[in-house]
Order: sequence, then C-alpha cells, then structure tokens
Amino acid sequence: MSDCLFCRIAEKKIPAKVVFEDDQTMAFDDIHPQAPVHTLIIPKKHVAAIQECSEQDQVLLGRLLLTCSKVAKMKGLAESGYRVVVNTGRDGGQTVFHLHFHVAGGRSMGWPPG
Ligand code: AMP
Ligand code: ZN
Repeated sequence: MSDCLFCRIAEKKIPAKVVFEDDQTMAFDDIHPQAPVHTLIIPKKHVAAIQECSEQDQVLLGRLLLTCSKVAKMKGLAESGYRVVVNTGRDGGQTVFHLHFHVAGGRSMGWPPG
C-alpha cells in the first residue's frame, strides 16, 4: 500500500535501520525507542492487524515470531529476557496500521502494561 508507512519501509522507499530481513519479514529499530533495545518486526506484505490474517497467513505468522526470536538473540536479549508486544486497534494503542511486533529489552519491564 503506497500510503502505508511500513509498506514504504519494506520497499526501502523510506530509510530505516534494518537489522534483519528475509523473503517475508523485516526487522528495523524503532525511531522512538522505549527501551535500550526496541526493534519492530513486520511482514513485507501489507497486513493491517492480526485479525486481518486468515488461515493462509499461518506460515507468515510463525515466521514473524521466529524473526522476533532471531532479533532478540542478535541483540543479546535471549538470556536476560525481553517483551514481544503487538498493539492492536484503538484500545490496544496501535498507531501504525501495518502489523508489527515490538521486541523490547535491555531493561526490566513492568506488568501490567499501562
Ligand atoms: P504502535 O503504536 O504499536 O502502532 O507502534 C508504532 C511504532 O512505530 C512506534 O513505536 C513508533 O515509534 C514507530 N515508528 C513510527 N514511525 C517510524 C519510522 N519511520 N521508523 C521506525 N519506527 C517508526
Ligand atoms: Zn503496509
């Protein structure tokens, strides 16, 4: 989608600090990090949110979590721990309507989230 920020990043039309990519997913550092490590993992194809996924997206959804795991290892978080977050819709605090997983770590995370 040409008017979608994360589609533009996936197409490399808008610069981002890309830390990993494969044929289906991309990971880049959040522009306003909320933790010492804060990276976003997106599908390269446009998907607005989890509930927009169908059975056909099963492999893609699995791949997104594997990319989260790879990024966490790459950033040295696997032992200390980290948070994987998918803000969804208005009450979930989603601001960019292209599915993305936040991987955040490098500090202790509070619970429950605000
Ligand atoms: P959410 O609020 O869950 O939809 O998360 C959107 C995230 O995208 C926020 O953490 C923003 O800081 C981040 N963000 C917005 N624009 C950019 C950008 N151009 N490059 C990297 N991250 C961005
Ligand atoms: Zn998009």
